[in-house]
Amino acid sequence: GCTAKDVIAALRAGAAVVAEHRDELIQLDREIGDADHGENMERGFRAVVDKLDTSAPETPGAALKLAATVLISTVGGASGPLYGTALLRAASAAGDAEELDATAVAKLLRAGVDGVVARGKAELGDKTMIDALSPAADAAGSVAESEADGVKALAAGAEAAHEGARNTEPMVARKGRASYLGDRSAGHVDPGARSTALLLSAFAESAR
Ligand code: ADP
Ligand code: MG
Ligand code: MG
Repeated sequence: GCTAKDVIAALRAGAAVVAEHRDELIQLDREIGDADHGENMERGFRAVVDKLDTSAPETPGAALKLAATVLISTVGGASGPLYGTALLRAASAAGDAEELDATAVAKLLRAGVDGVVARGKAELGDKTMIDALSPAADAAGSVAESEADGVKALAAGAEAAHEGARNTEPMVARKGRASYLGDRSAGHVDPGARSTALLLSAFAESAR
């Protein structure tokens, strides 16, 4: 299910997966950025877990908002405000619902994409987290047309995010630090797209 408890567990699973993949994310960012994405994500999500240890958000929306606030205030890189905005928009979309069904999950992901686009102005194909997050929202939306279970929508979104992240490899970056490399940014997976895919599959597996 997708109650507040499930969202809290999902955020903890997200913290575990970014810690586990810290070095991989650093390596991806070393190739086309400044080698700090793994550190940024680990620091931010560790702070989210610390905050969750001392507070008990009572709705999915409140849990998402807590994570957003912590990420915005603890992650210095571009990814902090972008993930923070995504989670803040997702929190607004969740409202004060007690439980998220498939339609709600799809709406949340769409709101997250819209937030990142509003903040960072990237389009599909610019080799950013949008290339993972946007297909995830699309996939969750199609599942929600025939399926009530929010976890199934999330799982479909996660799978699409992994494919989207892999698809960033040949792309030339047009936003963020990697864009400074021009054509030399091609041939590497975007670190933010990879972390988005990792987070979404950790959320989906945790909620199952
Ligand atoms: P920084 O680039 O400040 O060091 P990070 O390394 O933590 O921050 O995050 C880099 C990731 O942020 C990129 O791989 C990309 O996915 C994402 N990103 C950067 N700029 C944008 C943008 N304008 N829109 C969407 N995502 C972006
Ligand atoms: Mg970086
Ligand atoms: Mg940086």
